[in-house]
Amino acid sequence: MRRKLVVGNWKMYGSLARNKELLEGVLQGVNGFKAADFGVCVPYPYLAQVQAMLHGSNVAWGAQNLSQHEQGAFTGAVAPGMLLDFGCRYVIIGHSERRALFHESNDIAAAKFDAAIKADLTPIFCVGETLAERESNVTEEVIARQLEVVLNHAGVSAITKMVIAYEPVWAIGTGKTATPDQAQAVHAFIRQRLAQLDGQMAQGLCILYGGSVKANNAEQLFSMPDIDGGLIGGASLVADEFVAICKAANGAQ
Ligand code: PEP
Repeated sequence: MRRKLVVGNWKMYGSLARNKELLEGVLQGVNGFKAADFGVCVPYPYLAQVQAMLHGSNVAWGAQNLSQHEQGAFTGAVAPGMLLDFGCRYVIIGHSERRALFHESNDIAAAKFDAAIKADLTPIFCVGETLAERESNVTEEVIARQLEVVLNHAGVSAITKMVIAYEPVWAIGTGKTATPDQAQAVHAFIRQRLAQLDGQMAQGLCILYGGSVKANNAEQLFSMPDIDGGLIGGASLVADEFVAICKAANGAQ
């Protein structure tokens, strides 16, 4: 049986003082939750703080981006090995904000995905359709293409090393959540699609839902058969909200 996973995406929020308070609240709240896994993906400058505070706890940590290059003259970029220096387990790849605001194509996301796998980091690979794509009934084609590009680069065995986050772009930071049935339909599609490559690997794959998950909708979402947890933006910045979402995952079957 797949374990549930809840990962916070702090985006570009935080300060040393605010992070301390948030992490103390999260640590206290999730202490003793043993049935699910938890993590936070934070801005690079806070990795040292997060490592010091979360080390030895049941909350893992990671980054929100990485360079596809190992090292070199890439001003402003951060290499996979640097994330390992700070104990990262996860790295978010292909978030829709990176795709839209930083012009990351499917090919760039695939190169970053490859670099993460090679470094033994767990990529949380984001896929999802825009509102216009949903309304034009091309959701499945868009997602199939996003998956195909990374797996063509990294190979089918990457399915055992990755986490997928289905994040409909129209639901991110908008307060609009996909209904549990809408999300389940896409999660089932993703799993079926990957099962065509390897049934067993697809059954073990963790597929998160992301898009305005809150304490009051997490339980319903996590009760769906192919939703294995959540990638949480705004609500991960409020300790009580995030802990309540983690609790829903910990209690879900
Ligand atoms: C995200 O940033 O991945 C996300 C899902 O954000 P929010 O929960 O705020 O919609």
